Amino acid sequence: MKILVINAGSSSLKFQLIDMDDESVKAKGLVERIGIEGTHFKQNVLGTDKVIEFTRNMADHTEAISAVLEALTDKENGAINSLDEIGACGHRVLHGGETFKGSVLVTEETMKGIEELVPLGPLHQPANIAGIKACQAVMPTKPNVAVFDTAFHQTMPPKAFLYGVPYEYYTNLKVRRYGFHGTSHRFIAGETPKYLGKKPEDCKFIICHLGNGSSLSAIVGGKVVDTTMGLTPLEGVLMGTRSGDVDPAVLEYIMDNTGMDIHQMLNCLNKKSGFAGLSCSSDMRDVKAAAAKGDAQAQAALDVWCYRIQKYIGAYNVAVGGADAIVFTAGIGENDTAACADVIAGLAFMGVKIDPAKNQRGVCGIISADDSTIKVLRIPTNEELPIARDTLEIVSKL
Ligand code: AMP
Repeated sequence: MKILVINAGSSSLKFQLIDMDDESVKAKGLVERIGIEGTHFKQNVLGTDKVIEFTRNMADHTEAISAVLEALTDKENGAINSLDEIGACGHRVLHGGETFKGSVLVTEETMKGIEELVPLGPLHQPANIAGIKACQAVMPTKPNVAVFDTAFHQTMPPKAFLYGVPYEYYTNLKVRRYGFHGTSHRFIAGETPKYLGKKPEDCKFIICHLGNGSSLSAIVGGKVVDTTMGLTPLEGVLMGTRSGDVDPAVLEYIMDNTGMDIHQMLNCLNKKSGFAGLSCSSDMRDVKAAAAKGDAQAQAALDVWCYRIQKYIGAYNVAVGGADAIVFTAGIGENDTAACADVIAGLAFMGVKIDPAKNQRGVCGIISADDSTIKVLRIPTNEELPIARDTLEIVSKL
């Protein structure tokens, strides 16, 4: 069976067609500027030179999904002969709240539950819903499965997920820490024990998903015991454009002194902070290039980034009760070997050591020295495959 995996944003839509016989990606693509002048479409059929790329205005996600299906079945440059080959659609959905602890088939009832969680993810949840509704409109006979970014973190105990605010905000408003990047953390949590040669239930490790968005998770016996993101993806380490942890009183102080309202303030913390706020760019490569030329602000941003990750690794080493491994993944974790080495350099006092010969781009597995007290690994993440796997599992039971 082939599964169409959809990751719908407010004005973009990423897709992958995955053949579940061998879990290979047949085609992948991106639609950008949906609902904005100059919608751009691009699809690649993997293992071939077939590319479809064009600019044509698309008013909404339904038009975008129609374009995806046209491209996938294109006679010359498509990936499949007919839509019959697609068994189901799997959707990345931002927020499952406490309602969804795992993936679900989209039904009238579960859709209601997803819609009820819009207030917890006002920017992303409506886009995810639009993606599901677009598939229902264009392919009414195909089942849809919702896979939540928060679900894998639902095993966190109250001591990790409660904020120190009046309890009624948790009971009445569901204000708590949820965590995100769940499909990535879950994928890496599944892969890591294979490299450690242990059963998942016998492993304790720390996952560092370091990309434009970044989060760490503490895993014990295959389950999350803590993670750095909170009610929203704003909490935690420094990111490309997000601040990570800040004293909440900073908001009032900045707002009083600039005249910004709370929406502008949160927009600033989400989109204009992190690397972008402290230095010249949200992109690690640009920040590094600037620092290499002697830009002190860029160097300070890199130092903050590194130090905060080291602090969380220290905290999560306690959370798991002594980690067997630290795992790097996502754009920076997979590609920037020097940044990973810098993070680990701060753990030298604990006997954690990188082996420079193993710490190469493209190396998948252990990159620490043989005598390192905690193993260090680099494992490329795959955020789409868990979505496709869950979708297959759920629709196979129909
Ligand atoms: P992601 O959000 O996982 O796609 O990761 C994006 C981040 O990875 C950006 O900050 C990029 O600068 C960073 N990145 C990607 N490739 C490299 C590389 N070769 N060296 C350093 N950083 C990289």
